[in-house]
Amino acid sequence: MNNLDKFRYSYDDPTQLNISLKKDPYEKVNDLKSNNLNQLLSTSVKVTKEIFPDINKAIENVFKRLKIENNLNFFVTANHIQTQAMCSAMPLGNSAEIILTSKLIELLNGEELESVIAHEVAHFYYQHALYPQANSSTNRIEILNLLNFSRAAEISADRIGFLGCGSLEASLRAMLKITSGLSDKYLKFNFSSYLDQLRELKEIKGDKNLLYSTHPNFLNRMQALIWFSMSNEYNNNFDTGKKGSFDLKEADEKINESIKKVIGDEVDYSNKDVVSRALMWGSIDIFLSDKKFSKKEQELFKKNFGDKRTQSMLSFMKMANPKSIQVKIDNTFKEASTLLKKDKENIINELSKLVKVADGDQSSLKNTIKKLKTSIKL
Ligand SMILES: [Zn+2]
Repeated sequence: MNNLDKFRYSYDDPTQLNISLKKDPYEKVNDLKSNNLNQLLSTSVKVTKEIFPDINKAIENVFKRLKIENNLNFFVTANHIQTQAMCSAMPLGNSAEIILTSKLIELLNGEELESVIAHEVAHFYYQHALYPQANSSTNRIEILNLLNFSRAAEISADRIGFLGCGSLEASLRAMLKITSGLSDKYLKFNFSSYLDQLRELKEIKGDKNLLYSTHPNFLNRMQALIWFSMSNEYNNNFDTGKKGSFDLKEADEKINESIKKVIGDEVDYSNKDVVSRALMWGSIDIFLSDKKFSKKEQELFKKNFGDKRTQSMLSFMKMANPKSIQVKIDNTFKEASTLLKKDKENIINELSKLVKVADGDQSSLKNTIKKLKTSIKL
């Protein structure tokens, strides 16, 4: 296991999404048939040791530190406005190119540039480009969850940015320069005062617009990196001679909570809402496996969902025909299919417990569970 696999942020876990990634991120990368590459070769300058010796050196340093193979193409493109780098590992992966803007290179020193290069290499290695894009969905729950994922991906990539340049300070400086657009001439690198800004932001209950942002706020990113550098795993792995303050798992939880303080609990709340609706309609589906909602089942339902919901469910069922009940169940499960895998597994586990207590024969109850499992996409 290399350091990239070891130190991936635990909330950036693609097994939670309904996607399949390539086993090996390098698969097909050598195939140079991509249109993207053709376009880049004609409009940007490819980084070679002859043309850009310093940039080339920075790239070599990164791959040496990360101990992974470099078969990516790096380009510099003229852009004096945007300080950014992009990793365009094409979703279906014919080739991977990393594009650095001229402004980025002007602004950063060698070490800082290494952190940005390593950050982009991480996006390639982790196959982040294969994650479904939030803007490809129209379902609010799915959009919120995918954006959460996209922010988690940045936390992973920032870590590798740090490991690839070998300096925490250079990584943090690069973040500040990229966010402010300003050079060393203007910036004072007193990190604790930037973290004061984060405290202030949390005190005013964060910035809810960040709920729709693909990147975490730069203050959260800086704090996440500092906490990572304080983990036992980081310090042991790199023999820093320092003792860590907590386990990596704990650091990940702290980071997740800190991001939530800034963007709000909205994602959690709406996920919980979907989970509870799925549990309610899933129970009804199971109880109705024998076409009857018996007194005993009504009691079980009441125990799980309360008096009020049981009353309104009973009056709904009195008026509704079997088909409209099924439509309700199907729609609820369609929505629940956009949740993360762990939530979906929870729902099915909880519902499976009802098989033992519901009326009706076991095989039709089990079939209902099977059907629900398919519609929730598990
Ligand atoms: Zn990124």
